[in-house]
Amino acid sequence: MPLKNALKKEYKRLAFVGVAFFLMALVSNVYVVDMVKKQMDLYHRSDIQVYKITLRSLIQAQEAVLMQAVGAIVTALEKGSGPDELQTLLRVITGSIRDQKNVQETFVNIYGYIDGSYLDGSSLAPGSPEAAPWLSGAPLPSGVYHSRPHIDARTGQMVNSISTAVFDRNGERRGVLAVDHLLAPVTKMVQAYKVGYSGFSFLLDGSFTVLTFPDPGLVGRQISDGPEFASLEKSLSAMDDQALLERAVTIGGVRHIGFFSRLENGWFLGVAAPLNHSFGQTAHITMVIFSLALVLSCGLGLVLVRMASDIISAEEKSRSKTSFLARMSHEIRTPLNAILGLSLLARRNYGASAGLKYLGEINRTGNHLLVIINDLLDLSKVESGYLAFKHEPYRTKTIISDILSIARIRTIGLSLTVEVKADPNIPAKLIGDEWRVRQILMNLTSNAVKYTPAGFVRLGVSGWPTVDGRIRLVFKVEDSGIGIKPHQLESLFEEFVRLDEQSNTKPIEGAGLGLPITRTLCRAMGGDITVTSEFGRGSAFRAEIIQGIADPSPMGDIEQSEPELQAGEEDGVPPPAFTFPGCKVLVIDDIATNLVVAEGLLSFYEVKATTCLSGRLGVEAAKKERFDLIFIDHVMPDLDGLATLKALREADEYLKKTPMVALTASAMEGMREMFLSNGFDDYLAKPISLGKLEEIMTRWIPMTGRLPAEGIKQSN
Ligand code: ADP
Repeated sequence: MPLKNALKKEYKRLAFVGVAFFLMALVSNVYVVDMVKKQMDLYHRSDIQVYKITLRSLIQAQEAVLMQAVGAIVTALEKGSGPDELQTLLRVITGSIRDQKNVQETFVNIYGYIDGSYLDGSSLAPGSPEAAPWLSGAPLPSGVYHSRPHIDARTGQMVNSISTAVFDRNGERRGVLAVDHLLAPVTKMVQAYKVGYSGFSFLLDGSFTVLTFPDPGLVGRQISDGPEFASLEKSLSAMDDQALLERAVTIGGVRHIGFFSRLENGWFLGVAAPLNHSFGQTAHITMVIFSLALVLSCGLGLVLVRMASDIISAEEKSRSKTSFLARMSHEIRTPLNAILGLSLLARRNYGASAGLKYLGEINRTGNHLLVIINDLLDLSKVESGYLAFKHEPYRTKTIISDILSIARIRTIGLSLTVEVKADPNIPAKLIGDEWRVRQILMNLTSNAVKYTPAGFVRLGVSGWPTVDGRIRLVFKVEDSGIGIKPHQLESLFEEFVRLDEQSNTKPIEGAGLGLPITRTLCRAMGGDITVTSEFGRGSAFRAEIIQGIADPSPMGDIEQSEPELQAGEEDGVPPPAFTFPGCKVLVIDDIATNLVVAEGLLSFYEVKATTCLSGRLGVEAAKKERFDLIFIDHVMPDLDGLATLKALREADEYLKKTPMVALTASAMEGMREMFLSNGFDDYLAKPISLGKLEEIMTRWIPMTGRLPAEGIKQSN
C-alpha cells in the first residue's frame, strides 16, 4: 500500500528520472558515436596514408632507376663515348637494375635515343615511335614524364613508361631515355589494400582510366563510365596533390565511405569500405547505452520509490502519533478537569444530594481516565514486547453475562438493542487470562455501542475443540451502526488511528488504541481478529482466541440465568464482606490526596487509620504505636518505600513481624515479585480497588479481628 501511495506521489520525480536518463543516454550516444566515427575516420585516413607512402616509394624507386641510367649516359657522353659504347653501357646498367630488390618485380627494360641512335638495355630492336606514347612526353624540356599504361608491343604486357630528356653538361639536349615497368605487380599490391577489415581499393591513372577495380569490366575504361562514379572524376580533378578526398559513394547499391589521394605520378589511389561495416559498431554502442540508461533509471526509480514509501509511512506514522498525543492530552484533561471541578463542587455541597451526585460523576470520570491510562500502559507493554498472560480458570458465562450487562446499561435510553447468541455447549470453565478476554469483548462491544446510533448490537459466541484438547473461541460482534469505509478498513488495527476524525461526525470518546490492543491480545492468545463492514450499514468484528478447558460441562443458556445486577457492581465497587473494628492500620504516602483516598476506603472496614506524609514520619509513628497492618508507598522523596520498610523492620522486634504492603502506581509486570523479594509481605496497585484492599485485609488481619459486614456500603 505505501508503495502504491509512493508511486502516486512520486510519479513526477520518476518521470523526471526517466527523462533525465533518456537525455543523458541521447547526449552520451551522440558524443560516443561521434567519437567512434572520428576514430574510424582517423584509422581510414591513416590506412590510405600508409598505402600512399608504399606506392610513392615504389614510384620513386622506378624514377631513380631512370635517373641512374641518365647519369651514367651523361658521364659517358662527356668522355666522348660513341653509340656502341653507350649501348654496351646501357646493357650493363640494365643487368645491374635487374638485381635491385625494390624494382625487381616491375622493371622491364631501359631504352632511348641518344644523338639520333636507338639504344636498348636488352639489345632489342626499336619499336615504332608511334607505339611509344612516352615519346610525346620526351620533348619536355626537363622533368620526368609518366606515360599512360599501355601494352608493350614486344612483351605484350601492360606497362607504364617513365621517360626524361637527356642533357649533357653544356645543357645541350642529346636525346631521350625511358624505363618500362610492369603494371601487374602494382595493381596486385593495390588490390590487397583494405580500409579497416573490409572494403576494397582502386587505382586510376592521371586521365581517370581505371587500372584496378573489383569489377573487372571497368578496368581499362574511364572511371566516369561507371554510372555510380559519374561525378567522381570532377571531384578528383579539382583535388590538389596533398589533399585527401573523403566521399560517400554507392558501389553495387551499397553505401561506402571512400578516401581518394593523388600519387606523385599523377595517378589516383582510392580505398572504400561499406558504411555499416565501418560504423556498424556505433549501432551496438547506441543499444548498449540506451539499455544501460533504462536499467539505471529503473534501478534509481525503484530506490526512489522505496525511499519515498519509507518517508511516507514514517510521515504518516508521525502524523498519527502527533494527532494521537494531541487527542490524548485532550482525552486525559477532560475527565481530569471534571474530577477537579466536581470534587470542588462536592466539597461545597458536602452531605447534600447534589454533592453525592457530583461524587458519583467523579467516580465515573475517574474510571474513564483509568481505562485510558490502562490502554496506554497496555500499548507500552505491547511496544516493549512485554505482555504477560495468566493461565487461571475462569467462568465463561460470567464474562459473557458481565459484558452483556454493561452493554445493556450503556444502551439504556437509546433505541438500540443488545442481543446475544452464545452456544450453550461452550465449557463452563476455561483456562486463560480472564481480564484479557474481558478486555477483548469490552473493546468490541463498547465500540459497537459507541458507533451505532440506533438498531442492534449482536454478540455471538461459539467454540470448536482444537486437536490438543483446548477450545477455539469465536466472538462475533455485529452492529447496525455507521460502518467503516472500505479504504479505512486497512488501517483500523493500526495504533492511534481514529476513523471518525476524517468524517464530520461529532467526536466520540476514545483514543484509537482499543482495536490495535485487541488484535495484539487475540494474536497472543493464538487467534486473530477480522472485520467486515459496509459504510452506513454496520460492521461485524470476528475475534478468535484459543483457551484451555478447566470444566468441560456446558455453560448453559446465557439469557436464562443472567445474573441480576447487584447495586454497586456496575461501578466495580463490591460491598465489603467483613469489617475490622478496632484494627489499626498505618498508611505512608507523600501525596496527601492519596492518603485521603486510602483513609476513606479503609473507613468502609471500620479500621482506625493513621496516615503519614513521609517515610521518616511513618517510622516515628510506628515506633510510638503498634499497628496491625502498614501500607507504604513506593516512590517517595528522601526515604522511599524500600528504605522505609528497612528502617521499620530494623526499628524493633514487633515491626519485624508486622505485615507491610507496598503501594505503587506502577502497574508494570514483575513489580509484585520485586516487592516480595525485598521484604514486603504484599503488594497493592494504585488506584486502590476496594476488592483488592479487602483481599489484603482478610489475608493479613487475623480472624479474631474480623466481623461479617452488616450491610452493603457504597462509595457513591
Ligand atoms: P476508539 O477508542 O477510538 O474507539 P478503537 O481502536 O477501538 O479506538 O477504534 C478505532 C476506530 O475504528 C474508531 O475510532 C472508529 O472510527 C472505528 N470503529 C471501531 N469500531 C467500530 C464500529 N463498530 N463501527 C464503526 N466504526 C468503528
